Amino acid sequence: MLKTDIKNLTLQGLESYISGLGKERFRAKQIFKWLYQMDAASFEEMTNVSKEFRVMLGEIAQISNLTPEVVEASEDGTRKYLFRLSDGSAVESVLIPDEGRNTLCISSQVGCAMGCAFCLTGSFGLSRNLTTAEIVNQVCAVKRDQPVSNIVFMGMGEPLANLKAVIPAVQILTDPDGFQFSTRKVTVSTSGLVPEMAELGRGCTVNLAVSLNATTDEVRNRIMPVNRRYPLAELLAACKAFPLPSRRWITMEYVMIRDLNDSLDDAKRLVRLISNIPSKVNLIPFNEHEGCDFKCPTQESIDRFHKYLLDKNVTVITRSSRGSDISAACGQLKGRLDQAGCAPKECGCEG
Ligand code: SAH
Ligand code: SF4
Repeated sequence: MLKTDIKNLTLQGLESYISGLGKERFRAKQIFKWLYQMDAASFEEMTNVSKEFRVMLGEIAQISNLTPEVVEASEDGTRKYLFRLSDGSAVESVLIPDEGRNTLCISSQVGCAMGCAFCLTGSFGLSRNLTTAEIVNQVCAVKRDQPVSNIVFMGMGEPLANLKAVIPAVQILTDPDGFQFSTRKVTVSTSGLVPEMAELGRGCTVNLAVSLNATTDEVRNRIMPVNRRYPLAELLAACKAFPLPSRRWITMEYVMIRDLNDSLDDAKRLVRLISNIPSKVNLIPFNEHEGCDFKCPTQESIDRFHKYLLDKNVTVITRSSRGSDISAACGQLKGRLDQAGCAPKECGCEG
């Protein structure tokens, strides 16, 4: 018999599962705390649950876990974890310490189907979605090594193409009986899947980051195929409608590529586009990689763009390339480290 992996279940799911076994629903909260607050690896450890029920659970359910195969530490404190999954594929998570925060960038898919021209992940296509358990287990594993204060879904994959697993994962991360992250400390990033943005907002409370990356449909169509389905006007309307946690702003990510989207006119258009959306801008200078002719902008054009936004009272940060010495910066994640014939996976991450 295939055992149920209880790390795939939200608290509500676990309550239904337990009542389906003829047991008290409140046991679910106890078990949830054991899993995500005490990091229990077996039902045996759950000493406030009756021995008989623990034995029963051990027979029909399992507690999955991930152990990093490789952990690399950057000179700047960034740590990169490679996780081998049960089917042999691999994903990476990156922990970025910054001003008292420890932000963990997690993956939601093996590969990605969205095909953005600047991101090598796109050229690999999608291998498969991660399960909820595989998503939350990245957090369990890193927490065993280091404290984690913030979570961003900015590793491998398009989280909104895997909402079936991502919404339960966000619920487990923010559940007061689960990981207990504040909804303000968890951010899901999307390339702009408009209907799924609304679905995410209905399914959980979480911060949203949108990879805008261009200020005209013409340029965005060229670098992000998703824009042909959901052009800028629709994307920005969906941003405006998104139900954020209280007093929060949408993060507009903007990968700056030399001579493509780094002009002062782009900066002007960007200010206009986001003027009626509570938002802040993250400028990410393009991380160059083989297989892509795009170039990183000059420091001068990054500074000019940044200053224009500041002068227009837009909250803006330019992301420094963290962890580049261990290939952990945006566009440097390698999810398939040792598979023969496979070029390194490049993916954006909060680097
Ligand atoms: N699929 C989601 C989340 C993962 S990508 C999304 O696209 O939003 C996270 C961020 O990294 C995105 O903003 C993406 O635009 C950026 N990114 C991807 N490749 C990059 C590269 N080579 N250099 C800099 N940023 C990159
Ligand atoms: Fe996928 Fe995001 Fe990379 Fe686009 S930028 S290919 S959506 S991971």
